[in-house]
Amino acid sequence: MNFKQLPKIDLHLHLDGAIRVSTIAELGDELGVKVPTYGPRELAKFVQVDRDCRSLTDFLKRFEIFYPILPYAVTQERIAYELCEDCARDNVIYFEARFAPALACSGEFTMEDAVVAALEGLRRGQRDFGIHCGLILCCYRSITLQQNIDTVKLAAKYRHQGVVGIDLAGDELRDPAAPHAEAFALARRLEMPITIHAGEGGKAENIREAVFDHGAARIGHGVALERDTELLKQVRDRGTVFEICLTSNLQTCSVPSLSKHPFKKFLDEKVRVTLNTDDPAISNITLTDEFELVEC
Ligand SMILES: [Zn+2]
Repeated sequence: MNFKQLPKIDLHLHLDGAIRVSTIAELGDELGVKVPTYGPRELAKFVQVDRDCRSLTDFLKRFEIFYPILPYAVTQERIAYELCEDCARDNVIYFEARFAPALACSGEFTMEDAVVAALEGLRRGQRDFGIHCGLILCCYRSITLQQNIDTVKLAAKYRHQGVVGIDLAGDELRDPAAPHAEAFALARRLEMPITIHAGEGGKAENIREAVFDHGAARIGHGVALERDTELLKQVRDRGTVFEICLTSNLQTCSVPSLSKHPFKKFLDEKVRVTLNTDDPAISNITLTDEFELVEC
């Protein structure tokens, strides 16, 4: 089957994890921000992991290289715009990009500035490339509750300009979701749809907590669900959607091998699943690649 021609949807896609290597080089040069090298081909070796990467540490280290160029309007707008182009080229007809405004701001560049710039890039991209998309704002496990409450308020403020939901990202092994419960209670009161990264490297209990305590209608990854049969039945009956990211799960060691990934089991058990890229620039993949992985 020609998966490239198939119209596709990507619901789990990090804006910063989708940045083009050539854009990092150009913006680094333009903004006077130091990156290891300004040659795109050389820089790719620093930013992208190998196909056979099996290390979460190595995977996360790649982001550190370009974090200094994020808190600029020109960056946020450009990566959002280029993401529309890249998705359209892969015949993705709708996507939801996500990012944490609290990690993309600085003293002079506020969380709101970051949201406004990203939305502007998506607006222009949708117009120029005939694609549809939404923006999810990520709360983060390792930042303060107040920053996450501010993130939810921003999401509500810009819901009619393209923000479609709230996420919780970060290291679930180190930082529990519970301290941020108040932010998700606010999101529920404001009727902002919620997705939460849970059961990626952590336990199935994190999925239960995300769905039943914090009101997540979708779960990012959720591979740990296979270890709790009772919970699997509960979330299936509830219609919770699992945003599956195969290559990412392999590269961050959430699963030992593709054949051990529970995606097929979830499908057989009639759990609602979607295929997604997560961080296509770091993994050097397209959504078409993910569909081809399922086929093989
Ligand atoms: Zn993710």
